[in-house]
Amino acid sequence: MKAVRRFTVHPSLPEPLTGLGPLATNLRWTWHPPTRDLFASIDDELFRRIKDPLRMLTTVPADRLTELSRDEGFLAHARSVTEDLDRYLTEPRWYQRRAGEGANLPAAIAYFSMEFGVTEALPNYSGGLGILAADHLKAASDLGAPVIGVGPLYRAGYFRQSLSLDGWQVEHYPVIDPDGLPLELLREPAGPAVRVCVAMPGGRDLHAQVWQARVGRIPLLLLDTDIDENDADLRGVTDRLYGGDADHRIRQEILAGIGGMRAVRRYCELTGHPQPEVFHTNEGHAGFLGLERAREVLAVAELDFEETLSAVRAGTVFTTHTPVSAGIDRFPVDLVRHYFGDGRLLPGVECHRVLALGAEDNPGMFNMAHMGLRLAQRANGVSALHGRVSRRMFARLWPGFDHAEVPIAAVTNGVHGPTWVAREMTELLGGSDEEWGHDGAGGRTGPREGVSDAQLWELRRDLRQKLITEVRRRVRAAWMQRGASALELGWTDGIFDPDVLTVGFARRVPTYKRLTLMLRDQERLRALLHDERRPIQVVVAGKSHPADEGGKALIQKIVRFVDDPAVRQRIVFLPDFDMSIARYLYRGCDVWLNNPTRPLEACGTSGMKSALNGGLNLSIRDGWWDEYYDGSNGWAIPTADGVTDPLRRDDLEAAALYDLLGQQIAPLFYDRDPGGVPRGWLAMVWHTLETLGPRVQASRMVREYVESFYLPAARNVAAATGGDYAGARSLASYRNRLDAVWDRVRVTEPELVLGDSPQVGDEVHVRASVELAGLAESDVDVQAVVGTVADTDRLHDTVTVPMSPAGDGRFAAALRLPHAGSLGYTVRVLPRHDLLASPAELGRVVLA
Ligand SMILES: *Cc1c(COP(=O)(O)O)cnc(C)c1O
Repeated sequence: MKAVRRFTVHPSLPEPLTGLGPLATNLRWTWHPPTRDLFASIDDELFRRIKDPLRMLTTVPADRLTELSRDEGFLAHARSVTEDLDRYLTEPRWYQRRAGEGANLPAAIAYFSMEFGVTEALPNYSGGLGILAADHLKAASDLGAPVIGVGPLYRAGYFRQSLSLDGWQVEHYPVIDPDGLPLELLREPAGPAVRVCVAMPGGRDLHAQVWQARVGRIPLLLLDTDIDENDADLRGVTDRLYGGDADHRIRQEILAGIGGMRAVRRYCELTGHPQPEVFHTNEGHAGFLGLERAREVLAVAELDFEETLSAVRAGTVFTTHTPVSAGIDRFPVDLVRHYFGDGRLLPGVECHRVLALGAEDNPGMFNMAHMGLRLAQRANGVSALHGRVSRRMFARLWPGFDHAEVPIAAVTNGVHGPTWVAREMTELLGGSDEEWGHDGAGGRTGPREGVSDAQLWELRRDLRQKLITEVRRRVRAAWMQRGASALELGWTDGIFDPDVLTVGFARRVPTYKRLTLMLRDQERLRALLHDERRPIQVVVAGKSHPADEGGKALIQKIVRFVDDPAVRQRIVFLPDFDMSIARYLYRGCDVWLNNPTRPLEACGTSGMKSALNGGLNLSIRDGWWDEYYDGSNGWAIPTADGVTDPLRRDDLEAAALYDLLGQQIAPLFYDRDPGGVPRGWLAMVWHTLETLGPRVQASRMVREYVESFYLPAARNVAAATGGDYAGARSLASYRNRLDAVWDRVRVTEPELVLGDSPQVGDEVHVRASVELAGLAESDVDVQAVVGTVADTDRLHDTVTVPMSPAGDGRFAAALRLPHAGSLGYTVRVLPRHDLLASPAELGRVVLA
């Protein structure tokens, strides 16, 4: 029989146990082992199976609960864990200390993302972007940063993957029941659930209810449209993540951005949480939030649209995650007009304004990344290399500026250590919150004193063994699922070996990640797997986007390879990659393989999780590895940059990969001292733990966002909005004045006075006349720029020096010659206003 409706009945906990409720619903348990211990002590066996405190409470038999309610030992344990949580939730942490030092930090920050991967118990993510968003919230919680997370709640999160007999990916979409998840419905004081509403075309409305998850100190608000008030088609807006057509997606994004803003506002009104001053959008999907804030401002202040934008931009931070134009979210202009055209969605915001914000080269398309950049005064990529790639990719939005000056910064992603590091590792190495940077500067490194190589090695073997147990279990289950019978699966008990060098590769399967690069030369791979003295074993996992047939073909190729009885002892594909498999892999693999086509991996974070557990990275120098590889913390696979034939490039890079594995990595791993300990290998592991450990933490990342983005944004918000939006008015009127005259601003008669045979370091003088066309000298910056020149006259390695007014429209500067060789110089004029975050912000520059 099939149920017509499902619902969850909550346990009624005996009075002495009511404290368990908050411990089970606050997701801090996901990174706090003592809380998990408490729930495991209720029924160890059961907890190991369901791994979710809340479900634990609904599953444990009532008499066991009654028994516990009389168990003094258990009650004392529960009290102490509760006290610890209370302390964690209320005590001043890093952010409060920074504020105490006089830093003008924002009262709150709203963080928007289409997915959040907090825990497998709340399956609301597809991959790296969602995990990153959740790690951001967790680190913000540890640091005490007042962030509010916002996004949709999907009824069928991302799909579960299984395999057909011939290795083709099969998707299932298990439907979740939010009542059974660690979520609470946000309610009005009188009891009914809060409703957020956004207007749809044709006079309809899309309603959503708002679920709140507690991620430590951080509220995470999740919007859910599956409610009775909605027409049938609108109930499905939050049906699944990244499914559906453009129309479905734009509805999801309207809900996430505009509905998300409305949910945050209502949440703050109801709970007394300070209203956010800064709004951070994790990728462009939620970018409509900036338009909703414009609507809010227009509704209360007498401002025009430009002035409003100045105020909105001041408080917006946009993080871009994709280095490929094809990865950017775009909609047909007609579709955007369909939703925004009748003016009901955002009263007061005219549709042509909306369209202008998303304009791109193709007049028929609306570009969410362009809108993100135009609505945010601060933007960044997610690794140093990705910052450079993004500056080039979006350079056209700032014409006249060299790529290096495009105002897109970089904050390298990080991962939440307490979530990803094996507990055994933390216990062996110690390492308090303070040391790892979760609640402080994080300048020190994990302590090594008193821990020997042999101890570390034993721990690594233990973690590898645990991975192998899991691999065997999952391979067996996968074969059963593919239709094999238990009788023919005896071999799965003997696959993998706890003393063999273990390589992991697991991630989503877009083409650029090159899942199958390792198969370029199957003979060489087989030789590595079966090497007599120095074999390797490989674990592979990954999901392909359901609509990506190419990705599925790659999975099938891997599966067909690993199905071969000749290799299946040493290489496996684990279906249904998610956080729970991932954890075993990051902990148990000795080498973490990453071989994207450079520079298409914006950052990549799985290698960071491996590094924190003592794994060594073997990676293309892309994303984070381009900047963090130091020659002794792992290996860089050389790239065939410039080789345009992709197949040839794959051949070259795969060959380099086999060489590294066979000639450097395996020999080092199997080089043992008389006690069987690989000293050279462990030296690299220690080095990784000590030097990468602190840098790959999400706490480092969040501190960077706070100091370099949230704090200056809050300062600009105050200046833009204070005194009835005086700053916003001033900036907009400055911009208008500039627009009117900028074409007539000119640099004339530039000159650089040189002595005979100039040498590096000599002082020279640069002078020029500037026609300001009615602007004041204080309205502009005039700069001398000196750099090297090659065969074109383009300046490289430039040094910029401000020029001062010297009377009569003349400007002058003295500077020292920075380089030997062929140099050139120029003089340029840039806008100057206190509320500009970067001189390139307005995309205006006049060159001599
Ligand atoms: C960390 C993580 C990712 C992201 O890995 P990349 O290296 O960025 O591809 C994806 N999925 C899961 C489950 C993760 O834990």
